[in-house]
Amino acid sequence: MLIIASHNGAIGIHQAMAALKGGGSALDAVETGTRLVEANPDEHSVGYNGYPNILGELELDASIMHGRTLDSGAVAAMRGFPYAISVARQVLERKLPHVLLAGEGAERFAREIGAEERDEMLTDAVRQAWSKGLAPTRLSERLLAQALPDLPEDAPLLGLVKLATDPERVAGTVNFIAIDSSGDIGSGVSTSGWAWKYPGRIGDSPIIGAGNYADNRYGACACTGMGEMAIRAGTARSVVLYLQMGMTLEAAAHTAMRDLRDLGGDYIGGMNLIALDRHGEHIGLSSEAGRKYIVQTGDMAQHAERQRGLVELPRRWGGAGRD
Ligand code: ASP
Repeated sequence: MLIIASHNGAIGIHQAMAALKGGGSALDAVETGTRLVEANPDEHSVGYNGYPNILGELELDASIMHGRTLDSGAVAAMRGFPYAISVARQVLERKLPHVLLAGEGAERFAREIGAEERDEMLTDAVRQAWSKGLAPTRLSERLLAQALPDLPEDAPLLGLVKLATDPERVAGTVNFIAIDSSGDIGSGVSTSGWAWKYPGRIGDSPIIGAGNYADNRYGACACTGMGEMAIRAGTARSVVLYLQMGMTLEAAAHTAMRDLRDLGGDYIGGMNLIALDRHGEHIGLSSEAGRKYIVQTGDMAQHAERQRGLVELPRRWGGAGRD
C-alpha cells in the first residue's frame, strides 16, 4: 500500500492511509484524502474557500481515475458543491456514458445524487482578497461597485484576464495517487483553478490525460501548475505513455516536463508533477526549486516529505513577465 500526494495533501494523507488499511480501495483513499483538503478553509486553491473567478464566484474542477479499468469521472467549473472529488467519483461510479460534466450540468448532477451543497463558498477574507486582486484596473472598480449579481450579463471581462494568476504564487491544486492492497492504482486531482480566472475557464485537473492519468499496467501521474500547459502537452498521459514505451520513471517524468519547454505562446508558467510506476517507485518534479511532495506506505506511522527534482521551464506572462 502506498500513497503519494502534493505537499498540501498532508492534512488528508493519514486518513487516506487509514482507508486503505481498513480494506478500502485506491479510489476510497484518493477521495478520503482529497475531501479533507477540499474542506480546509486555509487552502485557497482547492474546494471550499478557494480563490474565485473574476466575478467572485468559486468554480471547482476535479477528476478521479481507476488504473485497472481506466474508468474516469470529472467535473469542471462547478459551483456550490465543495466536495468536487466526490461528485467526480460519482460520475465514474454511476456508470454514466460520460466522463466529464461541466458547469450547470455538473451542478444539476450533483444535486440529483444528493451531493453536499453549500450556499456560501467563500469567507469574507477571501472576498476581500478578491477585491484587492482586481484593484489595479478601472474595469474592476465597475465590477466591484456593482454588487453581484447586479452586474450586467454582458459586462466586458476580457480586460481582466491577465490578472488570472494565483495570488499566493503557489500551485494549490491537490494531487493524490494511491496503490491499494489489490495492487490497483487510483489517482485524483481537485482545484479551484487559477484565481480571478475568466468564468468557465477549465484547467488541467478535470482533463483526463492532462492533469491526471492512471493505468495499472504502467503507473500514474498527477499535475499542479499552469493547467493550460498540461492540457496542451497532455502531461499526465505523457508520463504514463513514456513508461509504456519502456522508459524508467525518472526518464518518463523528466521527458514529460522537458516537453513543456517547446510550448510557444505568451503565457508559460510553472509545472509540478508527482508520478509512480507499477512497482511503487515514485517521483516528484517541479519547475521551481525547493518544492516537496509527500509519501506514506502501509508500514509508516506518518507521511514523509520528499524533495521534488527541478526541471527549469521558461516563464512568460503576456510578453511582460508574470509580475
Ligand atoms: N493546475 C491548476 C489549474 O490550472 C492550478 C494549479 O495547480 O495551481 O487549474
